[in-house]
Amino acid sequence: MPQANPKLNAFPVFMRVEGEAVAIVGGGGEALAKARLLDQSSAVLRIIAETADTELLSFIAATGATHIAAPYDAAHLGGAVMVFAASGDEALDRRVAEDARRLGIPVNAVDRPELCDFFTPALVNRAPVAIAIGTEGAGPVLAQMLRNRIDRMLSPSLGPLATLAASFRGAAEKLLPKGNARRQFWGSFFQGAPARAVEAGELSQAHDAAVDLLLSKAPVAGHIALVGAGPGAEDLLTLRAHRLLMEADVIVYDALVPEAIVAMGRRDAERLPVGKRKGCHTKSQAEINALLVELGKQGKRVVRLKSGDPLVFGRAGEEMAALRDAEIAYDVIPGVTAAFAAAADFELPLTLRGVSSSMVFTTGHDLKGNSLPDWAKLAISGATVAVYMGRSVAAEVAGRLIEAGLAPDTAVAVVENASLQNRRRFHGTLADLPSLEARADLTGPVMTIIGDAVAGANFERSEPLAAHSHESAANAAAAEVEP
Ligand code: SAH
Repeated sequence: MPQANPKLNAFPVFMRVEGEAVAIVGGGGEALAKARLLDQSSAVLRIIAETADTELLSFIAATGATHIAAPYDAAHLGGAVMVFAASGDEALDRRVAEDARRLGIPVNAVDRPELCDFFTPALVNRAPVAIAIGTEGAGPVLAQMLRNRIDRMLSPSLGPLATLAASFRGAAEKLLPKGNARRQFWGSFFQGAPARAVEAGELSQAHDAAVDLLLSKAPVAGHIALVGAGPGAEDLLTLRAHRLLMEADVIVYDALVPEAIVAMGRRDAERLPVGKRKGCHTKSQAEINALLVELGKQGKRVVRLKSGDPLVFGRAGEEMAALRDAEIAYDVIPGVTAAFAAAADFELPLTLRGVSSSMVFTTGHDLKGNSLPDWAKLAISGATVAVYMGRSVAAEVAGRLIEAGLAPDTAVAVVENASLQNRRRFHGTLADLPSLEARADLTGPVMTIIGDAVAGANFERSEPLAAHSHESAANAAAAEVEP
């Protein structure tokens, strides 16, 4: 038999408290917790406590709450719109609840549901927007968990955006006919240019964008977010990247971005792979640029997902230039670059006091010419070097650096599939590095980090890079002492 929908035993409402008195009886931690909760509103707090903890006293001093420092009396509740019995003393709380009820004021007694007229929710506050979570008997831990989950999903700029929306309500109602036109306006308001401008902290720009929308002067404006997907692990995605993924109409992604991250996007989003992946056509950079421009012109909200950080060896420069030329709006959302993920996997200090105070991100592909590139000179003077796409040029990189004067026993760390479950770590020296090129078993992306700071890494979970080099890096590590 189908079960009837369970009924709520407490029905959520939002109570007006602006400028109204809210009474809290109690001088300890429970009273303080309620006072802090209520302080998120514009209610006038009245704290009734003959004696109060120092923490509560400093709260009262800091917020300007009224303090009635006298033994509790029912008269203290007069005129309040809500009462909290939070004394921690069962008999007193009961008395407060009975008095409040007699005076017709709704009352909440901490930890005594049987005395409560109402319950306080866990609160996600983006004033003027509030999300209240109630779990009735299921307890505060569940409520807090849900609160945190919802909090992460909502942009911190939701509050200012809602305030802006409120200021446009009247005009929208006057200028736009009820129904489709009005709905479309608000859809574009909350998901389009005004929302993005608020997110960027550009409030007057947001106002102008909303005016344009209202006067239908704004063309269907698409938007491209160049988003860093991080090194591979799903939970190394930023909250902002996740939010944009959930809002995108189209997700255009590179081969290195795992399917699991693409799958975090909105269910009905169009997903377009543009990188080399088994069985997929690979698009040229010019084709990708043209695709992004085309999607923008169609008014789509696009997430262009790139592995790691989009501005590090991601050809974002070319995509941004194409979007700028076509006057398509775009944003850049940073991500955790592969070098940082590899360093974390190795517990490797990229800067190390007294050893290395600068770092280089390079590909090694510029080592072919005769002259030594700048970064090689930095390496020799102590910089930590992270080599992207370095597997095929490992011998070249090692050879040129040694030739230029970097010690062959300089420590080297290599991570395949950094941040992912199937990661593999290798340690060795610059002299071992050429062996990387011959390793057919490394099929994932590989990050190589070179420099004296590498000796500060943890080699317990790594294999030697070359069979004969077992001890070298570990010895170097032992010799390394941070001052
Ligand atoms: N924008 C990316 C880099 C793209 S270039 C970023 O910021 O990380 C691609 C190179 O990045 C790969 O050849 C490899 O050297 C490195 N890389 C990307 N993901 C990696 C991972 N999970 N582990 C190791 N190296 C990785």
